[in-house]
Amino acid sequence: MGCAVTIITNKQDYCPLCGASWVGGTILDTFKQQREEENSWCKGWTDEQLMEDIAKYYSPPYRWSRKIGLAFPHVYDGTLFWQCPDCMATWDAFTGREKAVPPEYYKEDGWPPQPF
Ligand SMILES: [Zn+2]
Repeated sequence: MGCAVTIITNKQDYCPLCGASWVGGTILDTFKQQREEENSWCKGWTDEQLMEDIAKYYSPPYRWSRKIGLAFPHVYDGTLFWQCPDCMATWDAFTGREKAVPPEYYKEDGWPPQPF
């Protein structure tokens, strides 16, 4: 009451605090853009070939998530927190419970958390 802590699941696609959608653009659109780049890894590929590749390595609905993974390599090798890109709230990546990043995880040398 008054201090309810939100919990998110792996499939969470919106922020329980600010309501923002975490559903990002399609992977196909991103790869199509990359296809146009010089020395592109997928130069000359058809949309069908791109889709085949996407189906192999990603899962439906083949969209990016806007949810930000925070990693602190000096603490743990992997994502420790999820963060909403809009309200910046954070959740423990293991329990899904809303939790602030301990201040000591941020180093003083200005090293920022890396999107994972
Ligand atoms: Zn939010």
